[in-house]
Amino acid sequence: MNILVINCGSSSLKYQLIDSVSEDVLAKGLCERIGIDGRLVYTPAGGQKEMTEIDMPDHTVAVKSVLDAFVNEKTGVIKSLSEVGAVGHRIVHGGEKFAASTIITDEVIEGIRECSDLAPLHNPANLIGIEACKALMPNVPMVAVFDTAFHQTMPEKAYMYGIPYDCYTDYKVRKYGFHGTSHSFVSKEAAKFAGLDINNSKIIVCHLGNGSSISAVLNGKSVDTTMGLTPLEGLVMGTRCGDIDPAAIEFIAKKKGLDLDGVMTLLNKKSGVEGLSGVSSDFRDLNQAMKNGNPRAKLALEVFCYRVAKFVGSYAAAMNGVDAIAFTAGVGENDGLVREWVLDYLTYLGVEYDKEANNVKGDLKMLSTDSSKVKVMVVPTNEELVIARDTLELVK
Ligand code: ADP
Repeated sequence: MNILVINCGSSSLKYQLIDSVSEDVLAKGLCERIGIDGRLVYTPAGGQKEMTEIDMPDHTVAVKSVLDAFVNEKTGVIKSLSEVGAVGHRIVHGGEKFAASTIITDEVIEGIRECSDLAPLHNPANLIGIEACKALMPNVPMVAVFDTAFHQTMPEKAYMYGIPYDCYTDYKVRKYGFHGTSHSFVSKEAAKFAGLDINNSKIIVCHLGNGSSISAVLNGKSVDTTMGLTPLEGLVMGTRCGDIDPAAIEFIAKKKGLDLDGVMTLLNKKSGVEGLSGVSSDFRDLNQAMKNGNPRAKLALEVFCYRVAKFVGSYAAAMNGVDAIAFTAGVGENDGLVREWVLDYLTYLGVEYDKEANNVKGDLKMLSTDSSKVKVMVVPTNEELVIARDTLELVK
């Protein structure tokens, strides 16, 4: 069965068509500038990337353009749309309602809508993607895969904030965590690669990308993670601040004459390594700027790595040990310097790694030496594949 995986944003839509038997990607790409003008980016397996300007007044037209591309006579990858057997949607926030992937019904759509409060930028856009697919493929089963679901196994002591309890009971203010599909996939792959029994293992997954989070995975279950009620908590990220003193919000607002929205934009979009360095949110640019002698680019990288190392240490404490540490996502898979600076803090845990092996970019690779007490590895993530697998499991 071929599964269409959709990750829908407010003006963009990423897609992959995956053959669930071979797990090959048949075609992938994205629709951009939906509601503005419209552009379809489409790459068939083994073929050239194509960019086509297409009028996309809404998401339904965008999805239609993707389906048309799949069956295009020249560059299509399937003969008819009947070959799309199911659709898997990435949904950002499932609140406490969704602890696992689920078949999309009217009730599930309502549940996702109820969680929109918690992710006002993402969930409504995800719902638009669901409605667009429903309109075009009314008889094709659809599955929702939630970014938050994997972390629903966290114990109360990990997810409760130290604020009045009624904030939780009345408004569901608690830690949820994100990147769950990635943490789930990478922890399983890491256990396999390290020869560990997942049911008897302590794994720390460092998902370091533009958005970054770390999780503590005990016996295959998430027991803590750095992101919180929203993806702003935890690590210093590309443009997000991560943990700060909450009182800094009021202080910055007063000093800069900003309202709440203004401060939140500053913390979400103008902070992180970009805000610190004044250079970029992209680690390739930061590495280059540091090589050229830019002290703030170096500082941004130091702050980033220090924070990662501190969380790894705290999760080793939370699990009373660690068997394996896995690096994943854009930075984790590709940036040897970041890994080196993080790992150099961890010798007290018995981490020993091979500097040569650490030159790896984007491949599954063991970085630790045979004598290392902790296995350290790079494990490429594949969130689309997790969505396709979950979708197949539920619809077959
Ligand atoms: P997201 O999904 O959160 O947008 P990704 O996991 O795709 O992020 O990571 C994107 C980031 O990965 C880029 O912003 C860049 O900082 C980093 N990155 C990608 N390739 C490299 C590389 N070769 N070296 C260092 N960093 C890289």
